Amino acid sequence: MADIVKDEHCISSMPEGLETTCWGCELRLLLSSYTPIFKCGWCGAITNRNPQIVQTERFRWRWLRDRCFVSILILFMLFVICGGVWAVYPVVFSISSSVGILHCILTTILSVSTISSFSLAAFCSAGAPPSILWGSYPTVGKGGLENYTFCLVCSKPKSPRTHHCRSCGMCVLDMDHHCPFIGNCVGAANHRYFITFLFSAVISTFYVSIMSVYTVFHLWPPLKYRSIVRLVISGRRTEAWRLVKEITVAFFNSAANLSARHLVLIYLFVASLSVAIGLNVLLWQQLIFIYEGKTYLSHLSSQGNSGVTQRDCQNIFHFFGWRYSVSRFFTVFYRTKKPHKK
Ligand SMILES: [Zn+2]
Ligand SMILES: [Zn+2]
Ligand SMILES: [Zn+2]
Repeated sequence: MADIVKDEHCISSMPEGLETTCWGCELRLLLSSYTPIFKCGWCGAITNRNPQIVQTERFRWRWLRDRCFVSILILFMLFVICGGVWAVYPVVFSISSSVGILHCILTTILSVSTISSFSLAAFCSAGAPPSILWGSYPTVGKGGLENYTFCLVCSKPKSPRTHHCRSCGMCVLDMDHHCPFIGNCVGAANHRYFITFLFSAVISTFYVSIMSVYTVFHLWPPLKYRSIVRLVISGRRTEAWRLVKEITVAFFNSAANLSARHLVLIYLFVASLSVAIGLNVLLWQQLIFIYEGKTYLSHLSSQGNSGVTQRDCQNIFHFFGWRYSVSRFFTVFYRTKKPHKK
């Protein structure tokens, strides 16, 4: 920790090269020896005298690439919705029937929630850190910039919870990671939208894959899956195996005469199932980090340390904006039960 210089006459008596200035409070400090990184004894700001030079020229290209990717993904989602409705509905449902109406409502809810949460996560700011006073001794109080560093690109203080994203060209509060699929950082302001999108997308893609398989079985008479299931259940496995072989031969014989509806259904099944598996893994990983009260970046930085984590379901409730403690309900329950025991 550096000593604070209050008297200018002290400096002349000290060896040269050990005097420096804190960026946070601009107090002149005397270091016992040369250290590239030091912490101010007054405001707590950390000064790095050998900062890394951040490349900013490619920022525009990264921004353009991310926006193009986001546009392609929105088009892909619209294709899945429109293609799915076109390929599935006329085969399986009558729109006027109650089952058809139920699936119409379900499709609308899943489509709106997925696209709206995706757009909010992609186009909302990830969370700029709050502005803080810095730069002069009377303004910055003792410990006012505890463990803050200075971002050379944004030219402003950076708290320990803040990271600078090169792709977004800004500092982001509680940055989790920069997601190329939404072309944006996942941070304090849009993390909930991102998790809502993952939930919604996982349910939607599983729904699409189930419906496309169900439609294929309606559309493809050779696929006598019910007969196979019946034979397997009754223990006639040799007959079931023969039927599987017949179906495989019929499949390859009719593969040359596939209609556009068949192709769309096959594509929807393969694409939605693979996307669902990928998003499910990502969602699970995100929920574990939220449960542990961490972000992906804080998880990486704590790997080398002992990493004191507070694993608690309360972290998940706080993340989704639930203000009250879960234990409060147990306390209320306990208080109401206690008089009966007596
Ligand atoms: Zn200072
Ligand atoms: Zn920055
Ligand atoms: Zn970013």
